[in-house]
Amino acid sequence: MCALITLIVILATALATPHNGVFVWSFALPILFYLLLGKQYGVVLSASLLVIQSYILGTKSSLSPFTTFNLSLNLMCAYLSIWAISHVFEGSRAHFSKRLKNLALLDPLTGAGNRLSMNHYFEVELQDKSQLYVFLLDLDFFKQVNDKHGHAVGDKVLVEVATLLRVTLGKGYVFRVGGEEFALFCSFPHEDEALNAAEKIRADIENTHFKIDGLVINITTSIGVAKFRSSNTLEGLINQADKQLYKAKRFGRNKVYCKFKKEPKLEKVIA
Ligand code: GH3
Ligand code: MG
Ligand code: MG
Repeated sequence: MCALITLIVILATALATPHNGVFVWSFALPILFYLLLGKQYGVVLSASLLVIQSYILGTKSSLSPFTTFNLSLNLMCAYLSIWAISHVFEGSRAHFSKRLKNLALLDPLTGAGNRLSMNHYFEVELQDKSQLYVFLLDLDFFKQVNDKHGHAVGDKVLVEVATLLRVTLGKGYVFRVGGEEFALFCSFPHEDEALNAAEKIRADIENTHFKIDGLVINITTSIGVAKFRSSNTLEGLINQADKQLYKAKRFGRNKVYCKFKKEPKLEKVIA
């Protein structure tokens, strides 16, 4: 639609006499470019249109050189003003839109995604779920960290843990789904690779000495792993992981539990 309107305005300017005033429609186009196509296309298209319209009006033989100069100058100044306003407006609109999106979708403490963004990721963004695994993590005895060092230190530990999770998981997605609970979404071609990744995360947290406000804090985490099945809703998948997490807690903590690994009598237990 944008291209069609632009074409009509350019053609009309080229075919009509300047007295007709049809070129005035050019002033509406930068606003349209920025609103519909964003800042990058807005710059390119607004500049191109200015050059084209100036050229067309400048070559109209029916006008005296003085009128042509005056017309071009007026067109240019008015056009540049509207262009500048559109540019600034679109810049701040995009900035606030991004901030609002972050406020709605990110956990303010850790910067990890929140439950809403987890739902959006699963329902909308993630097209191919065939190799999807969910790791549900709950930090072990985290209340003791707060009780011993204070809530502020506990907060900083959570921030460090979220960073560690993002780095260790790499291409996956980290969501904070509860106070000291995280859900990790990642695709793996094989179950063993998923289990190894979960185990690496567990071991990394255990082996990291979190240095916060002059203190050295060691924590561990329990992890329940679930594999996506075609019938799974997000709730079903999380419930599946939660059951495994419950077992990891119940049978000693600092463990990875999953259901899918076929082992005689036992479900897979690492650590
Ligand atoms: P468990 O091994 O059974 O998970 O023990 P736990 O102490 O981690 O579990 P519990 O559910 O009893 O307590 C979770 C604690 O996490 C309670 C609360 O003090 C702490 N917590 C939850 N959210 C936050 C937060 O945003 N910041 C801080 N600092 N602590 C939090
Ligand atoms: Mg918990
Ligand atoms: Mg806990």
